[in-house]
Amino acid sequence: MEFMERSIKVTIDTTNCPECATKACAAACKLYARGILVIKDGLPALAGSLEDAKRLGTECLGCEYECWFRGKSAIKIDAPTPGLDAFRRKHGLPV
Ligand code: SF4
Repeated sequence: MEFMERSIKVTIDTTNCPECATKACAAACKLYARGILVIKDGLPALAGSLEDAKRLGTECLGCEYECWFRGKSAIKIDAPTPGLDAFRRKHGLPV
């Protein structure tokens, strides 16, 4: 599944989620953000619509962090940073 927040894209490969004992992604979303990510039928799902996620998501990255450390590394968040490549080139850093 995937959804957008204001500027980030959250992608969840749910292949291993049924065997995940912690469901740490949804717990983190409830604890650190607004609970837009919940568990439905054993899988991560949005509590509301795609539009709700874009409007209510706080971009805290808590679901990704918790899934890495307590789940099964199923979440990838793309967080584009406009101007970062130009900045790195300007300062001689690898792009
Ligand atoms: S913590 Fe990760 S592996 Fe576990 S249910 Fe959530 S997304 Fe799936």
